[in-house]
Amino acid sequence: MTLTGSLPTGGLAAVEAEIRRACREARRERTSVNLVAVSKTFEADAIQPVIDAGQRLFGENRVQEARGKWPALIAAQPGIELHLIGPLQSNKAKEAVALFDAIHSVDRPSLCDALAKEITAQQKRPQLFVQINTGEEPQKAGIAPGEADDFLARCRDHWGLGISGLMCIPPVDEAPAPHFALTAKIAARNGLTQLSMGMSADFAVAIQFGATHVRVGSAIFGHR
Ligand SMILES: *Cc1c(COP(=O)(O)O)cnc(C)c1O
Repeated sequence: MTLTGSLPTGGLAAVEAEIRRACREARRERTSVNLVAVSKTFEADAIQPVIDAGQRLFGENRVQEARGKWPALIAAQPGIELHLIGPLQSNKAKEAVALFDAIHSVDRPSLCDALAKEITAQQKRPQLFVQINTGEEPQKAGIAPGEADDFLARCRDHWGLGISGLMCIPPVDEAPAPHFALTAKIAARNGLTQLSMGMSADFAVAIQFGATHVRVGSAIFGHR
């Protein structure tokens, strides 16, 4: 184990080094990749050292859990940015728009209805990503690749939602690269510049395929 590996933020340092390596290899600027530190299931005392190490962008997958721990952390440290990366129930859209700076999981018309209403009511503009179910897995959220262009057009024309980019979670038992490539291709043909893809096991590959937001949990915080 390296020296940094024994520090509480050794995971963060190792992930940062790997992001830099992947950026060099892909001839991309380090600043073109946002590291979303996924703190789900971890308590404030595990998150604080990562904040102290300079990390400001965090991801949570449940509204309720985030509401319990983040308001105090945000109050104590200006400049924290919080992203919702997990599925969002329409009846939690109000809380989600109030708490999160970005929502990575826009995946169905009823949620678009709820988000459009809350964005107007709260005068907030969270960054929005449409989740693409690239593996067309029945148990997984997201828009099927073949329906993505229509859905994105409806987001714009019907709901007036400004979509920044796309998100995907490749099937666990498949090589991620084709899923990242497909997501990037759908984004490009729809004029979207942001790509939320890549987790602990595959964020370097995702950077190769153009990820602008890598969502990394266990490699930073340890096993859940
Ligand atoms: C938990 C989670 C992650 C982070 O996963 P790790 O493998 O721990 O890096 C990324 N994206 C989503 C949607 C998640 O729910």
